[in-house]
Amino acid sequence: MTSLLVTGGCGFIGANFIRLLLKEGGLLAESPYDFLLNLDALSYAGNPANLKEFEKDGRYLFVKGSIGDRYLVNKLLVEHGVSAIVNFAAESHVDRSIEGPEVFIETNVLETQRLLEASRQYWLNLSDKRKLIFRFLHVSTDEVFGSLGTNDPAFCESTPYAPNSPYSASKASSDFLVRAYYHTYGFPVMTTNCSNNYGPYQFPEKLIPLMLLNALEGKSLPVYGDGKNVRDWLYVEDHCEAIMRVLAGGVLGETYCVGGRNEIQNIEIVKTLCKILDEERPCSENANFYGKDLSNYSDLITYVQDRPGHDQRYAIDCSKIESELGWLPSETFESGILKTVNWYLENSVWCDEIAKREYNRSRLGMA
Ligand code: NAD
Repeated sequence: MTSLLVTGGCGFIGANFIRLLLKEGGLLAESPYDFLLNLDALSYAGNPANLKEFEKDGRYLFVKGSIGDRYLVNKLLVEHGVSAIVNFAAESHVDRSIEGPEVFIETNVLETQRLLEASRQYWLNLSDKRKLIFRFLHVSTDEVFGSLGTNDPAFCESTPYAPNSPYSASKASSDFLVRAYYHTYGFPVMTTNCSNNYGPYQFPEKLIPLMLLNALEGKSLPVYGDGKNVRDWLYVEDHCEAIMRVLAGGVLGETYCVGGRNEIQNIEIVKTLCKILDEERPCSENANFYGKDLSNYSDLITYVQDRPGHDQRYAIDCSKIESELGWLPSETFESGILKTVNWYLENSVWCDEIAKREYNRSRLGMA
């Protein structure tokens, strides 16, 4: 058996990754792996319901536990003969990192180091042949590069790190540890730095699902500052395919920037969502709007005090992964956002379940 260990697989990107591999005709069949192990601590952001239909799939096993539990990680690696690890597990929300940075350091720095060390010890004991094929792929963010001015060139692999939030500082630290494990120990790592992902199963504290669910409930749509902060948007399945490309053909010790080539202001994202909802679920047909003097979802937009240290612009130059590994995003923003809105409209049970869970919904939800 050739197993792939995915950490944080019950979160947004991890669940989409596992779904893409395990679904009918999925990428697992084309990959060297035939078994998928998902290690997730089930923080507030982890949702096993994202993968419910695979519970009885013989190619898949979910284990509840932390990447910081060296004993458990070692046991899983040995018992399942793991050949590669994709590390999604993290605390991922900037606003939460501003309110409480410590857990970000614990998870994203300390526990990532423990995962690296447990994996390295396991790797050291592999046969020479298996050592050669072993891979550790660390999933990181473009936020480690800091903020761009309007006319600055996009981030690329050689952009110096300049993180501005506790979240991005913790991810930058984990990226440095991953790098150090390659240079110090020859541990076979690769890192991806991607832009803002969007798509199904995203926890509704992030910009797109938060705005969608607020709008459907007739609640205000809080936009930070003047709404002109720019992000690059990447459809989550395109990101997952990029990860598989890097896993299959990436060069050890290298980093790869992954983006959607969609630089868009936050306010434009919110207006686009409102426009799609106006067509797909008009206010006049939404029970939450009865008795309210609103005809368009955009009437719900309100500007609120900006986030401290809010980066102005992120943009990604993904020409390295395109030219070296032949990856290209297949969704345009227009096609991806329509799919996303329709997914949330069609999956109200998933949304209602999340709404019942205990998490602080007062957070504003800008990614
Ligand atoms: P998420 O918050 O939706 O999911 C994180 C998952 O990690 C959850 O299932 C959580 O339970 C799990 N987890 C947390 N601590 C853990 C631990 N100690 N051990 C095991 N599991 C643990 O995050 P996401 O949006 O899916 O992001 C995945 C990765 O991609 C993160 O590393 C994030 O920094 C990175 N990233 C995300 C985006 C984005 O737009 N969402 C963009 C760039 C990079």
